[in-house]
Amino acid sequence: MFDLIAFDADDTLWHSENTFAEAQENFRQIVAPYCDINEIEDSLHRIMVGNLGHYGYGIKGFTLSLIETAITMSEGRISAKEIQALLDQGKAMLAAEVHLLDHVPETLAKLAENYRLMVITKGDLIHQESKIERSGLREYFDFVEIVSDKTHQTYTTLLNRYQIIPSRFLMVGNSLRSDILPVIELGGHAVYIPYHITWAHEVVAISDEAEKGYFELADISLLPALLEGLQESRL
Ligand SMILES: [Mg+2]
Repeated sequence: MFDLIAFDADDTLWHSENTFAEAQENFRQIVAPYCDINEIEDSLHRIMVGNLGHYGYGIKGFTLSLIETAITMSEGRISAKEIQALLDQGKAMLAAEVHLLDHVPETLAKLAENYRLMVITKGDLIHQESKIERSGLREYFDFVEIVSDKTHQTYTTLLNRYQIIPSRFLMVGNSLRSDILPVIELGGHAVYIPYHITWAHEVVAISDEAEKGYFELADISLLPALLEGLQESRL
């Protein structure tokens, strides 16, 4: 019933957000001597969002935003040594080992037997390509698309290029904003798998899709059963 199943990568196939959180904590410690620590978070957020249009998503843009915030918040007093520490942190993040989420390889292996699979991820081109290669998951995917953003227009363009009808497209991801809502909007299907689950949560009933517009799963291992259930319910 699906011609193509696409997966988000960061925080859907492998951990990502945790490294940003650690980096921000390290950044706070570097900048704290120069400013009011209560203002660091707001200032960083404002600068990062303001820079998305210049740098896009990913670690390179993140690192530039950290440096800009450090210069702004220290009123120019941040040292070259401290800026070097931020640059080194960025390089370490880019080189960091890829840590897969639980159940990812075996679930992809199972799905790849019956479906064409794709990765749709945004971020730095080189970094995303490198993570896909290093993840050991490349063999399961027929297609890899690294995009600068994931909007309604991005999905429309991709589906046109691959000649996929939206109703036969399924997107799986951890971001309602990037992975789920734009796909629903164009008539596709979506499975939302939140990152950092704190409670056990079973497969939602099939009818939930009608209410919310998408399915929600606790983890990726539940996806094959959901697809089988859908298949049976539509036979
Ligand atoms: Mg993600």
